[in-house]
Amino acid sequence: MNKAESERLGSLLEQRGYQPVETPEKADLVILNTCVVRESAENRVINKLHILRRLKKRQPDLKIAVTGCFVETDITVQRKRYPQVDYFFPAGELPQWLEEIQPQEILTKHPPVNVYIPITQGCNNFCTYCIVPFRRGREHSRPAAEITNEVRILVERGAKEIILVGQNVDSYGRDLPGTPDLADLLSGLNEIEGVLRLRFLTNHPKDMSQKLIMSIAALPKVCAHINLPVQAGDDRILELMKRGYTVEHYRNLIKEIRRGIPGVSLSTDVIVGFPSEMEKQFENTVELLRDIRYDAVHVACYSPRAGTYAARNLADDIPGHEKDRRLKVIEELQEEILTDINQKLLGQLVDVLVEGKTRGKWRGRTRNDKLVFFPDAIGAPGNYLGRQVNIRIEKTGPWSLQGSLANESGQKQPGGSKEER
Ligand code: SF4
Repeated sequence: MNKAESERLGSLLEQRGYQPVETPEKADLVILNTCVVRESAENRVINKLHILRRLKKRQPDLKIAVTGCFVETDITVQRKRYPQVDYFFPAGELPQWLEEIQPQEILTKHPPVNVYIPITQGCNNFCTYCIVPFRRGREHSRPAAEITNEVRILVERGAKEIILVGQNVDSYGRDLPGTPDLADLLSGLNEIEGVLRLRFLTNHPKDMSQKLIMSIAALPKVCAHINLPVQAGDDRILELMKRGYTVEHYRNLIKEIRRGIPGVSLSTDVIVGFPSEMEKQFENTVELLRDIRYDAVHVACYSPRAGTYAARNLADDIPGHEKDRRLKVIEELQEEILTDINQKLLGQLVDVLVEGKTRGKWRGRTRNDKLVFFPDAIGAPGNYLGRQVNIRIEKTGPWSLQGSLANESGQKQPGGSKEER
């Protein structure tokens, strides 16, 4: 979500004549787009604000703005605490002062290959640990026509992969009765010429519908990759988190997804050390992860967020070192699982959308969201940015794959792939 919003802000600033610079020292305006979903993220924002305060002393004309979840509904206290900040504005909203600067030119900039587009803002769920509904407010969906129009413009400017984002994309459209839901939206976007791939995140296990599962399977541009945060594999903890589903419901949903979308890859989010999570409950989470075998697990230690139900009512009673141990257990398990899952791709041909170059190698992702690196064909460097190419996997690891360009019949190709679509 932050990535999507930063891209939008960057684009709006460029329309108004601003240009990006490499360091804050060279900037006239610095906007911090913040996340405070975890305490460590919030501490990083505060550190950055201290650094910027020193910079502003040396460069008093520098303007500093802060947006994102760090910004409280009532900013009176924050204004006093951070006098170096010229503007605070809520996540997802355009600051008044930016709207007042007249655009100087029509959008000309080429966007990245993959572009994040927010389709909803806010959340109605109030999971007991989560600060998002307090900072981003209740859920609002953007009209489908507006999203479709934005996708068309971005594709004209070079985007190939569209990633629809929201705190809970499965409830997209519910606040706009009689309008498209996520499955309908995907089906409309699937028709847009130039869109090569569609993705969406994040899903909520209590809201994901059979209709959506069927659409993912049926729509050729929608990638078979689903992020379905489980957060815990134990019913008592799920109830304390107020997640609105049981482990059994979640396991059944995974079965339906796997039945409906063959070859789908799955990722999830997990919190360890939630208040009163005993060893047994943690073991239940580990067991779930072992059974499901996700392609990615984003694991975080619980940290109380001021104002949430959990921070007010549940004692943060799992010591830090124990939270760290549980986090490590999951990371090690996941490394083992991924080593095994990815090994099965050795020698296979995969379809990679190229996103850029890192240390001399092209970098892209498969439709299952696997990160792949490959070199230029020997003696025939090409420009593969934004192209879908066939790659033969030659080396696998838990976090990425290495391969080389192959032609349609799967042979190594000296001059690159003809698979551009
Ligand atoms: Fe937070 Fe729960 Fe909403 Fe996700 S679904 S944003 S965890 S309240």
